[in-house]
Amino acid sequence: MSTSAIIKNIIRSRIGLRLSFYALMVSFLFALSTAAVLIYIESKNAERDLVKKVSQIIDTVETQIGQDLWDINTRGIQSTLESLVNLPYIKSAKIVDSLEKNFYVGKQSTPEKVSRDILLYQQKLGTLSVGYDVKEFQQDAYKKHQSTMLLVLSTIGLMALVFYFIVNQALIRHIIIISDSAKKFSLEKVKQFTPLVLPRRSRNDEISSLVNILNEGRRSAIELFQAKKYYEEQMVFQANFDLLTGLYNRQNLYDHLYTQIGEYAEDKGNLFILFVDLDGFKQVNDSVGHAIGDKILYECAMRLESTAKSQGAYIARLGGDDFVICFYDEDKESYHDVCNKIINSFDEKISSQGINVKLACSIGVTLYPDDQSTEPKTLLHNADNALCKAKSSGKNTYYCFDDATRKEQELENNIKSKLNDAIENEVFEINYQPLIDIQKNEIIGFEALIRWHDEELGWVRPDIFIAIAEKMGVVFYIDRWVFETAIRQVEEWRSHFRKNYILSINFSPSNFYHSEFSEWASKDNAIYEKNLDWIELEVTERLVLNDDPAVLDGINQLCQRGMHFSIDDFGMGYSSLGYIKKFSHLLSKIKIDRIFINEILETDFDIAFVKSIMMLGDSLQLTVLAEGVEEEGQVDLLRSVGCQYVQGFYFSKPLPIDLMGSFIENWELEQISQKMMLVHHDVEHSNKNYNNNKHGQKGNENESS
Ligand code: C2E
Ligand code: MG
Ligand code: MG
Repeated sequence: MSTSAIIKNIIRSRIGLRLSFYALMVSFLFALSTAAVLIYIESKNAERDLVKKVSQIIDTVETQIGQDLWDINTRGIQSTLESLVNLPYIKSAKIVDSLEKNFYVGKQSTPEKVSRDILLYQQKLGTLSVGYDVKEFQQDAYKKHQSTMLLVLSTIGLMALVFYFIVNQALIRHIIIISDSAKKFSLEKVKQFTPLVLPRRSRNDEISSLVNILNEGRRSAIELFQAKKYYEEQMVFQANFDLLTGLYNRQNLYDHLYTQIGEYAEDKGNLFILFVDLDGFKQVNDSVGHAIGDKILYECAMRLESTAKSQGAYIARLGGDDFVICFYDEDKESYHDVCNKIINSFDEKISSQGINVKLACSIGVTLYPDDQSTEPKTLLHNADNALCKAKSSGKNTYYCFDDATRKEQELENNIKSKLNDAIENEVFEINYQPLIDIQKNEIIGFEALIRWHDEELGWVRPDIFIAIAEKMGVVFYIDRWVFETAIRQVEEWRSHFRKNYILSINFSPSNFYHSEFSEWASKDNAIYEKNLDWIELEVTERLVLNDDPAVLDGINQLCQRGMHFSIDDFGMGYSSLGYIKKFSHLLSKIKIDRIFINEILETDFDIAFVKSIMMLGDSLQLTVLAEGVEEEGQVDLLRSVGCQYVQGFYFSKPLPIDLMGSFIENWELEQISQKMMLVHHDVEHSNKNYNNNKHGQKGNENESS
């Protein structure tokens, strides 16, 4: 870079230098132009002075020259002219006399001249022309001003320096400090606001107001930035973390799974996805309230997190009491160990706010890539299905998604796609299973059990499609159809066989929440206008557990129409005896689940359980029915402990209408023939006694005779 370029650069980059340079240049130009004007004026004055001087000189020599011309004193004229030329700045002198004779001394080319006619005695004797050199005169004048100019210029230079110093002290260095501080200022690095203070006394000038504005702006910027940062952090936190537990949330879990699947490499092993659900948390939440429930949930989350972290696993809360844990392992069986650790971590009670609760958890597992789904949603769905299996096999356990679960899932999807059509076309049938009074050996009524045959799926189990219908929110239409159809059928049997058979209808708890329920329950038509006190609606324990006013209102509404309610599959749910007591006024029967009857001949506990439920029934004035009776021994045992009502394959499987019709007929005929045999037996017995008595009397008579 050339020196001029460097200078230019410095001047451009330093405002102080630039200002000084401009000041210097302006002063210089001003001085220069002032000097030029001065010199011009001076030179004009000097020329005028010179002309004046030359005129004065001419004045002094005029008489002499006139005399010499008069006397024609050539030498005198010549010497006068020479003496004139010897004077400073006069370069030539010339006389032209009246006879046109020239007398000339000095340079020929003298530009400026002063001419005067030489007069003597009023008579013109000739003309004197004196040539002078004004340039020389001017140069002398310049020389005279040169030093002044130099002095002025150096004063100007000095002033520029002083000016620079003053500008620098008063302005530039502060601007530099401000600009340096602005350059260094980074919102990312600043933790808190520190104002910029200039190294000078406090003044109320523009720089101070600039610094104040800057400080104010900086403070606002820092505050804004920190607020924005906090807001962004909050946004990131809320987008990725669960607010209650601080664990990752559902969205993050999906992102995590997408990444894991996307970057999956075989050498990482298997990606295990564990779907963890707390057993019985809903009850805890309902009983302790949501505030403490949340704290307990937090404690559970911490337990799960510490177990997950000890395995180097990822953990997220999906919502409610559902958590998902993901980890890699080469060993496909390693999930057993992890699941056991998770389940065991709940061995100790959870304590919060002085409340101790015992909780457990169930886990559904799926592993990628064995589970070939590549969508996080599907993988989670599969793990959830496995969780349902774990829950249905007694909770506090785990289950790994397998082919059987996959098939169930496929079946579920098929059912889902067909169920609405099936409901619309009423393709269902109803089978009836008799309810038996084993003390009196009588049919007391029937349970209506729905059946569905599909061309593709074959016979679909009701417990399966009813559960799916519940999920789809359409079970109400199924139960309503069963209700109306079964009532018509059993009414026929009641009048045909002249018996007061009762009809048990399974009634899904979700019906009470259905939008059409109220209207249906208060409906008036051929069926509902009848006396319906022989109808018993079977509900499962989970319904009774629900204190929801909507449910209680619904139950009351149906009770007012004369219907009764019974608890189905009792013992399988989680109802406490306290709850049964609380809702006993709404109930008329308890149906003991067949799981307690299955092994009643082998297990003392089951006998004890049945006995205690019967005692409970006695005290709450509820009848008790034992479900799933399959063997004669079971019937005998139940009869011996005083159980009156049973239902089961031992008497009859659920049968279609015509077969059930023949069954009732046979049963009633058998009853009649048994009664007749009894009568016959009684008659025979009394005849025998009569004869014996007769023979006895005769003998006595013989003895006495
Ligand atoms: P549930 O109400 O407990 O019905 C009794 C179930 O036990 C029936 O199964 C019946 O066939 C079966 N069962 C009866 N006696 C015995 C026995 O001695 N041994 C064995 N192993 N099983 C016996 P099903 O018909 O498959 O019904 C299953 C469940 O589906 C029912 O259990 C009920 O919860 C539900 N369900 C059936 N029909 C309906 C309906 O119309 N509406 C609703 N909401 N649910 C229904
Ligand atoms: Mg039932
Ligand atoms: Mg049952």
